[in-house]
Amino acid sequence: MAPTPLQGSARGLILGLVGGLAAGIVEAISLVRDAPVARAALLEAGLYAIIVDALACATITGVLGAIFAAALAIARVHLRPDRVAALYVSGSTTFILAMVGWLWAFRAAGGDRGPGVRTDVLFVVLLVAAACGVLVHPLAQSFALRLFARPKRLALGAVVPTMLLVLVFPVQVFMEARQHRAPTVGVHGIQLIDPSVLELDFDADLDAAFAQIGTMAPDRPPNVLLLTVDALRSDHLGACGNSWIQTPAMDALARASALSCSTYPQQPQTNPAIASVFTSLYPAVHGVRMHMVDRLSETLPTLAEVMHSAGYTTSAVIPWTSLEPAFSGFHRGFQTYEAFVLNEPPAMQNPATAALAAIYRRVTDQVAVGSAVEAVLGMRQGTEAEIDGRADVTAQAALTWLANNGDSQFFFWIHFFDPHYPWTPPEPWDLLYDEGYEGRYNGDMSFVYEMRSGVFEPNPRDVQYLRALYASEVSYTDHYVGQVLGFMARRGLLQNTIVVLTADHGEGLGERGNSWLNGDYWLHGDDLYAPGIQVPLIIHDPRSTRGHQLLSAPIQHIDIMPTILDLVGVSIPRRLQGESIVPLLTGADRGSDRMAFITLSDDSQTSVVSAQGWKLIADRVTGGRQLFYLPSDPEERVNLAPAFPDRVLALSRRIDAWAAANASGVASAPVPTNETARLGISAARSSP
Ligand SMILES: [Zn+2]
Repeated sequence: MAPTPLQGSARGLILGLVGGLAAGIVEAISLVRDAPVARAALLEAGLYAIIVDALACATITGVLGAIFAAALAIARVHLRPDRVAALYVSGSTTFILAMVGWLWAFRAAGGDRGPGVRTDVLFVVLLVAAACGVLVHPLAQSFALRLFARPKRLALGAVVPTMLLVLVFPVQVFMEARQHRAPTVGVHGIQLIDPSVLELDFDADLDAAFAQIGTMAPDRPPNVLLLTVDALRSDHLGACGNSWIQTPAMDALARASALSCSTYPQQPQTNPAIASVFTSLYPAVHGVRMHMVDRLSETLPTLAEVMHSAGYTTSAVIPWTSLEPAFSGFHRGFQTYEAFVLNEPPAMQNPATAALAAIYRRVTDQVAVGSAVEAVLGMRQGTEAEIDGRADVTAQAALTWLANNGDSQFFFWIHFFDPHYPWTPPEPWDLLYDEGYEGRYNGDMSFVYEMRSGVFEPNPRDVQYLRALYASEVSYTDHYVGQVLGFMARRGLLQNTIVVLTADHGEGLGERGNSWLNGDYWLHGDDLYAPGIQVPLIIHDPRSTRGHQLLSAPIQHIDIMPTILDLVGVSIPRRLQGESIVPLLTGADRGSDRMAFITLSDDSQTSVVSAQGWKLIADRVTGGRQLFYLPSDPEERVNLAPAFPDRVLALSRRIDAWAAANASGVASAPVPTNETARLGISAARSSP
């Protein structure tokens, strides 16, 4: 007698569950083994691997078992029960071994950051799995019948553990949703009012406004406005020497302020970078290594918390999903923390479904099966293409808050998302730098998806247009930075507000040759060349009479928190790793000992920049070292490692010492021999 479909699916379910658990354990072990640093979320990632793999395998083999049994029933084949049972066992063995082999190959090839599993490797894996299935078949005939003798008990044994595994996720959602309902977060409390009331689109003479400041002695500690612009590279700012871009507002701010065009994020991705701004800690210490996956630990004090306990009214306007509490944990210390994300699914505004989305994100980013499901269904791509964080909405929200709360002593954080892709600036900015393009790109997410799929092949004209769109987004954002500053000037707020402006990271625009197929040297987070990591920092202190100052020493994001606290006279917590730059502003220190350390999320590359203008990029995988002298080679075209082996050695030792002190994964990198230095091994990891 052939089994019923129910029996078939129960048998498939239990075999898949057992095999999937095994596959998950293999994946969890390889996750831990491949992890370059002791990431906080590693244990969680390992558990996800076991649960998701077990559930995925159980589902697939359960369905296959049902189909197999139904096919037998329809064909009215009367096979001996021991043969049917043996077929289940050998078929499932093949499937599960193929799964384990694929997971192993996926991780060995670099996981979701690498080029993927090679076809020949996959073929060998399938061949070995099939051979094992054939070998198991005669053995299975003897024991499978006993195993499947009681279908009801078997089904119960399969369904109960499956349900228990499934339950992990709702329980987690419940717990996280409770966390997110923190009493200090007033989500969507800001009701946007009519832009005309807010005087948006007025033309403020910012130079005149800043010139008037400095004559009034404020009777209380100044407010602090922290502006972060997403993906704004230094060389796309007029104040940093760009002769063609239009950034009049930020330039006017810079003319009245201390300006650094060589400020560095600690890791060039939004959430890891901003975590360093808010904690003054290196990424390996604050633990936010994977963007939108790792959240800031509740135990670390943040800039907002310190400012709030010093008596400041704290508020944030954020226009992007990754900064929301479920994905970042950055809301701590803010009395109001408002997200203004365009076209965000309504579910994201509910703490429970936002927690679910965050868990989904963590699973798909960490677990091989999760990323496979993501690739097949393309769920995130569909959502990502719709969501946007526009500068005009951000500015409107910011001005509404300022209009209602400008009288308080405030610490206000505004994040402008715009120069970040998609590069779709509204009119009239869209045609600002390139009018006659008729190619296939329009700056929306499609070119990013092409990069992720490894099929991005723009011609030089396309590249020119995409670069023009990025520049347009910078100018568009600048306009709205100007609206905020102009509004504050009219309300007299600039006179008692310290304005700090920086970017979370830069943006590569394909400057480094033809490695476009994988999107290398485009966007950010995958390399440590200047376009992706060199960002501006502007500090305007209304009490200062020093006017414009250009700071040349490298400044790190972790220096921003101690600098702000220093400026407003709040004592600086002891555990911070950054250093106030106030001595640079006053001239007490020239900054000749300052250095900046920047690393990628997996520490595969780490860079150090010295105050003397030397920059070393160390590659942990190849052991390669690239040395650049930025004053004469800002585009990093000439690798001087072969010519200056002693300097390479000295800077490598600085990186090693930094890595050892920060539990970062670079210390084990081999010190370059003269041979590798002479060859000047490229640091490109995944370029074809
Ligand atoms: Zn960013």
